[in-house]
Amino acid sequence: MDTVVSLSSDTETRPTAGMRAAMSAAEVGDEQKGQDPTVARLQERVADLLGKDAALWLPTGTMCNLVAVKTHTRPGDALVAEAMAHVIRAESGGAALASGVMVQGIHTERGVFAPADLEAAMDRVVAVPVPYGQPVGLVCVEQTHNFGGGAVWTREELGAVAACARSRGVPLHMDGARLMNASVASGVAAAAFAAEVDSLWIDFTKGLGAPIGAVLAGPRDFIAAARRYKQLFGGAMRQAGVAAAGCLYALDHHVDRLAEDHEHARLLARGLAAIDGIEVRNAAPETNMIFFDVSGLGLSNREFVDRLAAAGVRVSGAGGQIRAVTHLDVSRQGVERALGAIGEIASAACG
Ligand SMILES: *Cc1c(COP(=O)(O)O)cnc(C)c1O
Repeated sequence: MDTVVSLSSDTETRPTAGMRAAMSAAEVGDEQKGQDPTVARLQERVADLLGKDAALWLPTGTMCNLVAVKTHTRPGDALVAEAMAHVIRAESGGAALASGVMVQGIHTERGVFAPADLEAAMDRVVAVPVPYGQPVGLVCVEQTHNFGGGAVWTREELGAVAACARSRGVPLHMDGARLMNASVASGVAAAAFAAEVDSLWIDFTKGLGAPIGAVLAGPRDFIAAARRYKQLFGGAMRQAGVAAAGCLYALDHHVDRLAEDHEHARLLARGLAAIDGIEVRNAAPETNMIFFDVSGLGLSNREFVDRLAAAGVRVSGAGGQIRAVTHLDVSRQGVERALGAIGEIASAACG
């Protein structure tokens, strides 16, 4: 029975029966020793998908960023990223602790910055008289940008920023937690986006619906260096093929269907925009996220989230707004049920 409509995050997906069957049938070995055949297959598959030399299986996306920042930078370097990027705001300060980098944030509306923004951010630390300046070790972009409303960097936007980073000799890393959403939404191959960056990773536990796993990809020497940090941070596993089989299953069965999540997000946004007192920040969602403001209902975010939860619909309060995310476990009827429940809360609040 569809008891709760869970729109709080696309991490809430549960492995399907087909995925569980693939996981239970997985061939396994000692992953830490490089002997797990299913992990090896997944790494090759992702390297191929992203058009990179090599790939490295890791337990989480957070560890992909941790390992990538560590591999690219030296302590004291500057790390440039959008100010609301996950690597800055949601990784417990990992980049500072593990890599000793200083963050230069770029403030934007939708998470996508321009070459001029990047130049200015780099100049803040580089164009300072000797000896005060600091090297820029890495630039990060997030595709899609979560707090930018699931915004997609176009290939042109990405290419322009990549050229700017390259002209300064600074590597570019992509947090591609939702790269496959960007690819499905834009019709641009994941490898075409990947071609613009030095390293990147995709998450299997967001819209792709697997319970565990993320894969980092890049040049062979980068991945070889990253493997050491995977071990150092405790990311090397044993019979991880059980989890990797879920990721392979997701690549076969859960990529094209992301279009359905995007359609559901548009449906939800249209419905929300029609409710008095609700202001949708991204009324035409590019992928699977909607951010909206309920202050017009005279309710705090907490009150709204709690009332909606009591009606069997979960959303999250995020950055002073409400966030709703569509995914594999949210059907069209689920979206309609959510809209009905929100409509009732709105009329009760206003009436
Ligand atoms: C979820 C997320 C991460 C972290 O991934 P985990 O697998 O949850 O550790 C990193 N970046 C972005 C943009 C994310 O949405």
